[in-house]
Parts: sequence; C-alpha cells; structure tokens
Amino acid sequence: MRAGTPNPVVVVGGGIGGLATALALQRNGWAVRVLERGTSVDGGGAGLVLSPNAVRCLEALGVAEEVRSRATVLRRSVVRQAGGRLLARTDLDVPGAGGPLLGVVRADLSAALAAALEPGTLRLGTVVDAVADLDAELVVGADGLRSVVRGAMGSQTPPTHRGYTAWRALVPRRSDLPDPATTLTETWGRGARLGIVPVGTGSTYVYACATAPAGRRPDESGELAEVRNRFRDWHAPIGELLAAVEPGMLLRHDVHDLTPGEVALRRGRYVLVGDAGHAMEPNLGQGAGLALEDAVVLAHVLDAEPTYDAALVRYARERGPRVAALGRQSRRIGRLAQHAPPAVAAVRDLAVRATPGRVVRRATGLATDWHPPSPAPPPPEENP
Ligand SMILES: Cc1cc2nc3c(=O)[nH]c(=O)nc-3n(C[C@H](O)[C@H](O)[C@H](O)COP(=O)(O)OP(=O)(O)OC[C@H]3O[C@@H](n4cnc5c(N)ncnc54)[C@H](O)[C@@H]3O)c2cc1C
Repeated sequence: MRAGTPNPVVVVGGGIGGLATALALQRNGWAVRVLERGTSVDGGGAGLVLSPNAVRCLEALGVAEEVRSRATVLRRSVVRQAGGRLLARTDLDVPGAGGPLLGVVRADLSAALAAALEPGTLRLGTVVDAVADLDAELVVGADGLRSVVRGAMGSQTPPTHRGYTAWRALVPRRSDLPDPATTLTETWGRGARLGIVPVGTGSTYVYACATAPAGRRPDESGELAEVRNRFRDWHAPIGELLAAVEPGMLLRHDVHDLTPGEVALRRGRYVLVGDAGHAMEPNLGQGAGLALEDAVVLAHVLDAEPTYDAALVRYARERGPRVAALGRQSRRIGRLAQHAPPAVAAVRDLAVRATPGRVVRRATGLATDWHPPSPAPPPPEENP
C-alpha cells in the first residue's frame, strides 16, 4: 500500500510507542499527527533498560546512534539477596546472547524519537476523548494502559492490579556500586525487589517493587520515607542511593497489566500499539521494547499489504501471539520473584544460584532474539 492518503494517520499518545510509530510511518512517507495530552515529551519514568530487540528497532528507526551516545552499555546482570549474597551473574555481551543492554534515561529516548519527527508532527496538550471524531484514515491507539482508543474499539478488558507497587527514581551515579558500572543489579528479598541500573551518561536508575495493595499515599515525603524504610536493611549502597532521591522525584505506580491475549489489537481502522494493547508486568523489562517492535511492524505491514484491512489483520496476527506469550512469561516471573511465599522463595534462590548463565540467556531469548522485518521491496516500475 502506498503512503500519501488525503487524511493523515492519527496517533493518539506521544509516549515511546506513539513517537516510534509516528517515526516509522513517516520514514515510509505517511502523513502523521501525534496527539499527546501532556504539555511536553518528558518521558516521565526515570530510567529504562533496552534489550537487543529494542535496540534493533531503534536501528530500523534511524535513531540508534543518537540513543547509544546518551546510554550506558550494560554487559552483565547480577541477582543478589537482600544481604548482598550473589545468586547469579549473567554475561550479556557474549556470542549467542544477542548483545548488551542499554541503560537509558527515559526522557533521552523520548527526546531522540521526538527530534527525529518532522516539525509539526507532535501536537502537545491535546487530549483525545472522542476517538470517533478524529479525522483520520487510520487511528493508532498509543495511549497507554487506560487507552481511550481501546475503549472505542469496544474492549471490555480492564487493567488488572498485580498485587504490587513499583517506585522509580534517578540519582547521580556513585562510584561505590556493588558491581561494575556496566552491570544491572537486581536484589531479591521477600515480597520486595530493588534494581540498580547505570543509565545515561552519569545517572543511576533505582527501581523497587513491593507487594502492596493499590492506592496512593497522601504525600510524597511519606512515600519516600516508606521506600527508605522498607529497604533500610538491604545491602550497600541501597540505603545511600535511596537517601539521594530528591523529594518530588520519586515515581510510584501500582503495577497493572492487561490479561495476556485478551485484547484484540485491531478493529476496523483502529489499531493498538504498546501498553494500550498489551501492558504487562515490568518483570522482563520489555514493555517499551515491544512498543518499538509494534511501531516497526505496523509501518512494515502498511507498506507491504494492498489495503488497510489486510495490513491490520496481518499486524494483529504477527504481534498478538508474541505479546501474549511475553505477557504470560512476565506474569510467571512476577509470581516467583514477587509473590513467592518464604519457603518457595528460599528454593527459588537456590535454583537461581544453580542456574548457569547460558540457561538464563536461553530463557530471555524469546524476547531478545526478535529482529525487525526486512523493508518491503520497492513497487515494480510502471511501463511508460
Ligand atoms: C516500573 C516499571 C519499569 C519498567 N521498566 C521497563 C524497562 O526497563 N524496559 C522496557 O522496555 N519497558 C519497561 N517498562 C514498561 C514501559 O514503561 C511501557 O511498556 C512503555 O512506556 C509503554 O509505552 P507506551 O507509549 O505504549 O505507553 P505510555 O508510556 O503510557 O504512553 C502513553 C501516552 O499517551 C498519552 N495519552 C494517554 N491518554 C491520552 C489521551 N486520551 N489523549 C492524548 N494523549 C493520551 C499519555 O500522556 C502518554 O504520553 C516498565 C514499566 C514499569 C511500570
């Protein structure tokens, strides 16, 4: 199908999924508008880990070098117990592992995607509430967990609270991290986890999860005090890292997902990318990566297929099974890493200790081995 329709493609939501989709489509010649309710593309979400599949998408989108120049290359991941004991160490930058991860400041990723768009593409401060009124050939719902586009498609699937809360913050890089500055460290306790990730060019991203009912605390200083208190006995320098979080800079999200496989990714001329279609627990660190994959696949099928219908049917067929499988895998990890009762957690820790790195790499291969589709061949030359 050729780009160049009279009405543009409208992308609702200017998060990573929406910006990447707009960029992928624009690179193929489509007219695109992104409607984002926020007044800036700030990428609120502290840091992000990008796996090789996500990095390949950035390459396909032409922004990989820009993102790499602002990222930390993560060559190893380790898992520790709350007291600091090493449970597992996995080298990520070895043959067969797919390549290292990138630790990025989320705002840097959003900025790199936004800067690559043609001027005027992004309409900030634009809230979409009546999807049917949008003047568009195709509406892409990139509007996250509580997507209005998904609602307009008649989806009855509500987000499910997964029984835990995540906190995230960026702090300045320290020189006394427990592992080298190219290492992602995740520490597991009972009903709680904490990650330390060098990101960007001088920051450390700290994320923490704890089993907790949904609901916000009344004030942010109470929130920060709660996190510091929950992790106060954990190994160094977790206390110092949490002490370095500036008041007002701690993000809290109750973790929700969409039941894997329940959401139809397209209906008529509406199609979903990213969390709008398949929000998942953050245990694989793949939500943004899958949104990037959606973007390049959607652009590819629109180019390759003769009609919108054929393209969107193919999009849903190619993306549905993959995102559902990863959503289920992330739920399984959540049950083990987050919700295991003490006896099970003890066995889990022993099992993690005994598992060789290559087995861990194989388990994550489902997510990381993915490659973007090759560009569609050019249309045949017309006879003069
Ligand atoms: C704790 C945690 C850690 C994570 N870590 C990672 C990680 O390391 N790696 C990774 O790949 N993923 C990670 N993720 C997942 C990742 O954050 C999400 O999957 C990703 O941000 C989804 O992007 P999106 O663009 O689909 O949705 P969103 O980021 O939610 O963007 C949706 C956008 O739509 C806008 N919007 C919503 N409604 C409207 C409307 N009506 N009108 C106009 N605009 C609207 C919003 O303002 C927003 O900008 C993590 C998630 C959590 C919770």
